[in-house]
Amino acid sequence: MFRDMRRKRQLLSPEACAAVLEQGTSGVLAVNGDGGFPYAVPLSYVYEGGRLWLHCAKEGHKMDAIRRDPKVSFCVVDQDQIVPEEYTTYFRSVILFGTARILEDEDEVRAAIDALARKYHPAGTQEHRQAAIDRELPLLCVVELQIEHMTGKEAIELVRGK
Ligand SMILES: Cc1cc2nc3c(=O)[nH]c(=O)nc-3n(C[C@H](O)[C@H](O)[C@H](O)COP(=O)(O)OP(=O)(O)OC[C@H]3O[C@@H](n4cnc5c(N)ncnc54)[C@H](O)[C@@H]3O)c2cc1C
Repeated sequence: MFRDMRRKRQLLSPEACAAVLEQGTSGVLAVNGDGGFPYAVPLSYVYEGGRLWLHCAKEGHKMDAIRRDPKVSFCVVDQDQIVPEEYTTYFRSVILFGTARILEDEDEVRAAIDALARKYHPAGTQEHRQAAIDRELPLLCVVELQIEHMTGKEAIELVRGK
């Protein structure tokens, strides 16, 4: 069902895709929104051990959409280097498709938020993280994207430059 990329030379390896997801600081989540309109919303995330987690409020457009239809897509842009004289960009990005699972188990939720906190505040102590998690936990929803298909692509100029 998932499509192959037409320009195979530009396909990133699974390791390069993982590196993009590990380095990225935000991505765009696409869900099946209201009235047949797709809803693409930027979010922070963490990718660890092949799993990708997002956190957000329990309510809102994106959570309504996920509860209605958990099939989602997520895109992370790693590089967008404009080269004006060539009228192009030397880009690198990853797109994945998967199913969004809203975590219910508190241990799972805590582990995911801890991973997010370590990513975004690597110098933070465990005590500092713990206090923030305890404070925010009742307000938060954590969503795991169970990845079913993932591709990465980079500009042909980057492929040639290797
Ligand atoms: C780089 C980045 C990282 C972010 N990280 C997180 C995160 O980790 N967790 C999190 O919960 N939120 C994050 N946000 C905010 C996020 O984009 C949403 O605004 C938020 O999650 C609320 O989504 P919602 O669907 O519940 O909003 P709702 O208020 O229910 O959305 C209603 C409408 O508001 C508009 N809207 C909502 N969000 C945006 C937006 N960002 N820009 C423009 N219009 C918007 C849309 O038209 C939408 O249909 C991040 C934003 C950016 C730019």
